[in-house]
Amino acid sequence: MAIYGGIDLGGTKIQAAVVDEGNDHAVLGAKRDQTPLKGGPKAIAARMAAVLVESLEEAGLSVSDLDGVGVGSPGSVDDQKGTVAGAMNLSDWAGSFNLRRVLEKEFGGAPVALGNDVDLATDAEFEIGAAKQYDSLLGVFWGTGVGGGLILDGKPWVGRKTAGEIGHMVVRLNGAHCPCGRRGCMEAYAGRGAMEARARKRVNQGEKTSLFRIMEERGRDRLSSGIWERALARDDHMAIDLLEEAVEALGAGVASAVNLLDPEAVVIGGGLGIRLGEPWVQRIREAMHPHLFVDTDPPPVMLAELGDLGGAHGGALLAARRAAVA
Ligand SMILES: [Zn+2]
Repeated sequence: MAIYGGIDLGGTKIQAAVVDEGNDHAVLGAKRDQTPLKGGPKAIAARMAAVLVESLEEAGLSVSDLDGVGVGSPGSVDDQKGTVAGAMNLSDWAGSFNLRRVLEKEFGGAPVALGNDVDLATDAEFEIGAAKQYDSLLGVFWGTGVGGGLILDGKPWVGRKTAGEIGHMVVRLNGAHCPCGRRGCMEAYAGRGAMEARARKRVNQGEKTSLFRIMEERGRDRLSSGIWERALARDDHMAIDLLEEAVEALGAGVASAVNLLDPEAVVIGGGLGIRLGEPWVQRIREAMHPHLFVDTDPPPVMLAELGDLGGAHGGALLAARRAAVA
């Protein structure tokens, strides 16, 4: 057995998995929990450690069994220094925090490798998921924000450092305000954070929706993907309207990226992408169509095969690769 832990740190949830990389990437245990909204990086790191320990317990293993851990994080990740900085979607995490030092202590000295959350999820779909038979891939992660990961000619493309920010492709000049501070970005329409802000604004203007009532019923403090799914099931007008707007923006943005890069495949993942599933991936395909320059031969657009575990799988793969080099 080659036991690796993977942790996917998201704006809403922390997902951990324990994977046997010696046995076809078998998941031995997996747990998830909310990302703490208060307490800053220390509280978040403690929760990350706890979720992986729970995954180990589910697998009947303990920290001493770990051969390594890989972590996918938002923000600016410096794997050499072990730090994460500028993770704006996370509580009080604008500055730099040495995540590796804290986690290695929690995991009894097992080596911790850090990567960008979206890059790791893209890598996992490329290596062992929906796109494993292809040589190039555009990963689109539709969640709190909209992240993008690129693999070209079999290799991750990070540009000078920050490639893949598909959420900030401009789909409407002088359009809606984006959480990034700019205007008209795809994420300003399709990111769950921005969608929630748009929903609140419409409620303040007197429109009706069940979104926030479902949120209270579920004891939540924000509109998670599950809440959007439930509102859809209740035929909630505003939820349908905002999701259709999101799909239109995704169609324009993803098609533009395809026009530029012509990847062999596109994978749609992320909290909302996974929750809404194939019917909404089909809507994205349809929304892309009018914007495709070569619309007779679009690349396959597929739902992420690894589901919510993509990021955690990517973390485990990174850790295993690091161990193989060491
Ligand atoms: Zn933006």
